[in-house]
Amino acid sequence: MFNKFYITATLPYANGNPHLGHALEFIQADVISRYKRSISSKDNVFFNLGVDEHGLKIYLKAKELGLEPIELVNKNTQIFKDFCSLLNISYDNFYRTSSDFHKENAKKFWNISFKNGDIYKKKYKGLYCVGCESFVFENDLVDGKCPLHNKKPILIEEENWFLKLSKYRKALSDFLSSGNNIKPDFKSNELYNFNSQISDISISRSVENLPWGVEVPNDSSQVMYVWFDALTNYLSALKFNNKSYEEWWNNENCETIQIFGPDNLRFQGGIFQGMLKSFNFDFTKKLLCHGTILDNNGNKMSKSIGNVVDPIEQINKYNLDAFRYYLIVGMSTFADSPYKESTLVDLYNSHLANNFGNLLNRVIHLANKNEVSYFLDENKIEKDFNNNFIKEPFEQFNKYIEEYELQKAFLKINEVNSLANEYITEKAPWKMENKDEIENILNNLSILLYKVSSILEILIPNSAKIAKDMLTKKEKGILFEKL
Ligand SMILES: [Zn+2]
Repeated sequence: MFNKFYITATLPYANGNPHLGHALEFIQADVISRYKRSISSKDNVFFNLGVDEHGLKIYLKAKELGLEPIELVNKNTQIFKDFCSLLNISYDNFYRTSSDFHKENAKKFWNISFKNGDIYKKKYKGLYCVGCESFVFENDLVDGKCPLHNKKPILIEEENWFLKLSKYRKALSDFLSSGNNIKPDFKSNELYNFNSQISDISISRSVENLPWGVEVPNDSSQVMYVWFDALTNYLSALKFNNKSYEEWWNNENCETIQIFGPDNLRFQGGIFQGMLKSFNFDFTKKLLCHGTILDNNGNKMSKSIGNVVDPIEQINKYNLDAFRYYLIVGMSTFADSPYKESTLVDLYNSHLANNFGNLLNRVIHLANKNEVSYFLDENKIEKDFNNNFIKEPFEQFNKYIEEYELQKAFLKINEVNSLANEYITEKAPWKMENKDEIENILNNLSILLYKVSSILEILIPNSAKIAKDMLTKKEKGILFEKL
């Protein structure tokens, strides 16, 4: 059993504006972190977010805008921070790879790999996609272009430092075959194939071609490859917060959880795991790979097609809770999903306004009307009701959320609300004469609604907190204004 939880999302490049994929990843990570805090304590959870501020992509973008790279990343980092506030993301640390702390720590990790005999120098010639910040193979190209970025890669010919990942092939594939450490299952095979054939990678660039990065220890002619420096953040973020690696990474009782999208699978599940081995660290305990958000028609969103949905506009148009609820309950947790505004509106109206919100107001109204003498009294809950409407469904919720099946978990909560609505309709306490019976029904429902609100607090913190207040004060209110 784990008693500590370290959750981290990937660090997006600070070269542009946040998109829906970032929103999905941050909100998933936030919901998991809030859940872990609710079952453990604040002190036993650490949630890391941040930005990746190095690399050729940022260097070239700054050049294009006539800015120094640091000016560009300062500006864009603030945009990402503001975006996290807008989304109400409860991170414990916001990491910047341009910080001196990060650079020093990245060098320390480099030196560990070097001492382990895992870093060597070699002349290299290869095709590099700036969009991917990665070397690409001839085989992967479509019409000579990177299929992800629709751009021709550039030819790079230089002498670089290499990381001997081939040394860890067996460990990297054994780690995946040993069980339940990656979700979804269908990503496990893809990663297994990559890891069982993993080759050494270049982990530096000549400073002449890329002056923006972390200098390689004892070789001022080279800077670290952006992925190498950025990936060390997951470890350094702990040190930066005075948390020891023994307690927060190499500890069988601490669950380390990395959340990322499909384009990052090889980096997080392959290259970084090899780096961990080379640093003498444990593998990540849980790799969670979310899907891609597609457009209304199921196509990839892209600026050139003009079908990109801006998350900030969506939140302004509707509201934050509707947006957060939709990304978790309306989207598959691990597979690709289309973004449909009509579904966002439907889910908010049917699940939150009608199912939950109406029941909440109805129960409070009846409690006041009947001047109930007890409400929210756990000692007086009826046993059958407790078993059928609370214990059993909440156990299923727990089972799903412990497996990080966020969508399934919260659909369960909506089911609980539906059952509770059926219960009150069937019992019809407004027609009853027997005061004890009326009080019992309303008390049962008040406890159920309070438990539902506590769980919804990890998904829609603002509204759920108000719902709890309404119950405690027995005050009606419009919680979810219909969209
Ligand atoms: Zn690319």
